[in-house]
Amino acid sequence: MSQPERYDLAVIGTGLAGMAAAVFASSRGLRVVQAGSTGAISYTSGVFDVLGALPATREGQPARPVERPFEALPELLRDEPGHPYALLDPEDIRLAFHELMDFLRGAGLPYRAGGERNFLLPTPAGTLKHSWCVPETALPGCEALAQGAPACIVAIEGMKGFSARQVAVNLAPHWPGLTTARVAMPGHPGGEVYPEQVARMLEVPAARKALAEALAPLLGQARVVGLPAVLGMHRPGDVAADMERLLGRPVFEIPTMPPGVPGIRLKETFEGLLPGRGVALFCQQKMVGPLPAPGEPFRLRVAGQPVEHHVLADRALLCSGRFLGGGLGGLRGRPLTETVFGLPVAQPEDRAQWYRQDYLDPRGHAVHRAGLRVDAALRPLGRDGAPAHEGLYAAGSILAGQDWIRMKCGAGVAIATAFKAVTTLAGAR
Ligand SMILES: Cc1cc2nc3c(=O)[nH]c(=O)nc-3n(C[C@H](O)[C@H](O)[C@H](O)COP(=O)(O)OP(=O)(O)OC[C@H]3O[C@@H](n4cnc5c(N)ncnc54)[C@H](O)[C@@H]3O)c2cc1C
Repeated sequence: MSQPERYDLAVIGTGLAGMAAAVFASSRGLRVVQAGSTGAISYTSGVFDVLGALPATREGQPARPVERPFEALPELLRDEPGHPYALLDPEDIRLAFHELMDFLRGAGLPYRAGGERNFLLPTPAGTLKHSWCVPETALPGCEALAQGAPACIVAIEGMKGFSARQVAVNLAPHWPGLTTARVAMPGHPGGEVYPEQVARMLEVPAARKALAEALAPLLGQARVVGLPAVLGMHRPGDVAADMERLLGRPVFEIPTMPPGVPGIRLKETFEGLLPGRGVALFCQQKMVGPLPAPGEPFRLRVAGQPVEHHVLADRALLCSGRFLGGGLGGLRGRPLTETVFGLPVAQPEDRAQWYRQDYLDPRGHAVHRAGLRVDAALRPLGRDGAPAHEGLYAAGSILAGQDWIRMKCGAGVAIATAFKAVTTLAGAR
């Protein structure tokens, strides 16, 4: 049998944390092998939050939206000292985002970060979301909302999960003068239409021209046009610029329900570009193996290949997510487990403490803070409280102490902890 190929780093997982880690590691010249279900990333909304809300700390207190995420970090860490941000220098959060944004801009997916403030952007439910880093195709919407500029929200006939009327009615108190329009997608035979289909259709200039011609008479006095996120699958900035030229006014995208086009764009960008940067990427595969003895490399099996594939790696970065990604599991009636190496999971003592009485309680639930405890270098701790292996690191939502849904810090934790783990392990080579 031939010797397994040897890598500097095995990245376990292809959600946002794993993909960001592969970008950071390949930029630093590390030989990377990576596996996971890349579908995970399609479910993200495409906007990257650092901190959008501070959860309630006492009964009856509502969640507190955050306008200035970096200013609010000390308050978060006072209330939630076990949050992974406690292990990071805030400057590293910015550096991590900017390095990932540079990669995405080079791939034709430009993002903009909000400086000291979060952007405020409309959601498909017509609520407002605070987010620090947004695709540039969403920006004209943030600006128009801030200025109260007259805008028209456009729905596409047959597209489920996006109602221009719902967006406009719910946003009316914050954005007076919103109008709505509904248009059939030219060239589509009718019936149900999916955002991904429309995005791929709009890659073609003739389809953009036909849509603009159908839309123009419906826009009235609107100075800005909001569409569901369908402005092309690749290079959305170019598609948006062409629609702006055709309509004679700025257009912006509103993310749709998951899986939405902004998430699929990210997935296709990472999948398409990482192999060219030397990453051995195994999509829709698991990577499994035992925790090696001290000083030994990781011997991992890429499961699900028609031919068994084994790899050796000097270090491993566990980015396997929580329940959705499959990094944490738990059979009914049993404690939560970490599914790859069987690491100890910080969790409530028994299941009765997982949830509070009210599911929507703004203080959140203990089970949503479950995960791996790590040392200052992001190495998961074993049962004795020491790092489980000197070469094993963890990043992303598998880390304990954060409830990213309530704190609106999902992408921030994923990107910044991936950055910290990779820069630390690259420096320790
Ligand atoms: C519906 C939805 C909407 C979101 N919206 C936002 C938002 O608006 N703003 C924001 O900032 N964040 C948002 N997020 C959250 C953000 O995307 C999370 O931070 C992110 O999902 C966590 O990333 P992760 O990589 O840690 O885990 P995951 O995305 O869960 O990825 C885990 C990965 O590990 C893989 N894996 C598990 N076990 C193995 C194994 N044995 N071998 C190989 N691979 C394995 C899985 O296949 C998967 O690829 C959203 C997430 C969801 C689901």
